[in-house]
Formats: sequence, C-alpha cells, structure tokens
Amino acid sequence: MAKIDILGVKINTQSKEEILEKVSKIAADNQKHYIVTPNPEFIVLAQKNKEFAAILNKAALAIPDGIGLVWASRLLYGKRGCKERVAGVDLMTDICRIAPKNDWSVFLLGAKDGIAQKCALNLKEKYGLNVLGTHSGWADSSGDKENRKIIKEKIGQKSCHFIFVAYGAGKQEQWIRRNLEKIPVRVAVGVGGSFDFLSGRVKRAPRLFRDLGLEWLWRLSKEPWRWKRQISLLKFVFLVINKKLKNRP
Ligand code: UDP
Repeated sequence: MAKIDILGVKINTQSKEEILEKVSKIAADNQKHYIVTPNPEFIVLAQKNKEFAAILNKAALAIPDGIGLVWASRLLYGKRGCKERVAGVDLMTDICRIAPKNDWSVFLLGAKDGIAQKCALNLKEKYGLNVLGTHSGWADSSGDKENRKIIKEKIGQKSCHFIFVAYGAGKQEQWIRRNLEKIPVRVAVGVGGSFDFLSGRVKRAPRLFRDLGLEWLWRLSKEPWRWKRQISLLKFVFLVINKKLKNRP
C-alpha cells in the first residue's frame, strides 16, 4: 500500500475504508504485523529519535491520526496527499465493530487501572466483541516480562488477533517492538488515549470540532496540561513549511 514521506516518516494516504481492507488482510495472513497512528507529536519526536522513526517506518500501516498530517501531506504532495484523517480511536472502533463477523479476538493493554476493563465492557456490550483480556501493566522495559506472562496467561490456548496498546506516543511503539514477537498475538496497534475515550473517562470532541479539524483544541480545553506537548504542533508546522520552501523549484 502506497505511503508518502513526511519529514522522514512514511504515512499511508488511503481512506479509512481502504485501510480497513488492508487490516483485514494482515489479520488473516498468519504473520506478525503492527500498526502505528502518528500525529505531529510523533513526527517531531522522530526527528530527534531515529530509532523511533525506524520503528514507525517498519509498520504495516501508519495512519494519519492528526489533522496536522493531512494538512502537511497536501501541502507537500498536493492530490497525492492523505485522503482523510484516520484517527486511531476510529480505526480501533471499526476493527472492534467488524471483529465478531471476522471471528477476531482482542486484548487491551495499557491506560490507568480499570480503564481497559471499562473499555472492554463497553465494546463487548456494543459490538459483542471477544475480549480475551485486559491489563494496565507497565510501559517501560522493566515490566516486559511480567506483562508478557500476564498476557499469555489471559490468552491461554486461544488465538488472539489484535492487541491494542495504549501507552502514549513513543512508549507504545517501543513496547510493540520489544514484545510483539514474544506474545501469541498477530497484530499490534498503538492507540494512544483511545481507551480513555472508549471507556467514557474522557469525552471526545463533538462531531463539529472533528469535522473542522479542531479535535486537538477540544482536547487542550479538557486537559490543559497538554499545552506543553502541543508546542510540538507549532514545531511541526515550522518544519513542514521549511521543507516545502526548500523543495521549491
Ligand atoms: N499511559 C500508560 N502508561 C504510561 C503512559 C501512558 O498507561 O506510562 C496511558 C495513559 O493513561 C493514556 C494512554 O497511555 O490512557 C495515552 O496517553 P496520552 O493521552 O498521552 O496519548 P495520546 O493519545 O496523546 O497519544
């Protein structure tokens, strides 16, 4: 599936429907895959951290979770840019929605205590999702062994198709890189704050905000401590414009 390069990070440009088709393919091919959900913060982080950039670039799918990426893709590539924003939480919801008819099972890892369980309850109720287990666990490598032990125990002899990992930008992708090969799961997806939304702990921006590309502003108003992190949005805009000017004929 075609990707474009945004400041050294390869991003898929397809629509959500096309992405979902690809997800179905990789879930069926009996190999290990992972999916990343970059936003501008990821791209800024990847400028300094080449290992992180490499992890992002080896993903089967890298969907544009932030509207900033859609904007940058269109500025740099015109019509070849991203067709639409594909938020990680929307992709996760869609995978869970179509999971029962595909006979997929899932595991939820990460977020604060109780949040993954609540998220699982909501998804079971809404879609009849087969959740093999949940675990908040530890994002850093010192917790890997214990996390894997618990995940394996909970999955047992069953076949687990997806693990959604909610440890935030950087940490979740590193976790997937260190652990995916060692757990009985086919596809790992880094989903950031998705469990917080799907559990009902944090309210998602109203549709109007999302349609206007202002979800980041809504999140900032609900969680003002994010302002420091959202400075990377300004840095991202600067880097993209700089790139555009440099590439001008
Ligand atoms: N999180 C976690 N352990 C950590 C860091 C983060 O479980 O060491 C969880 C956090 O509780 C949240 C999720 O990771 O549910 C995503 O965090 P954040 O909101 O920062 O991610 P974003 O959506 O902004 O990428």
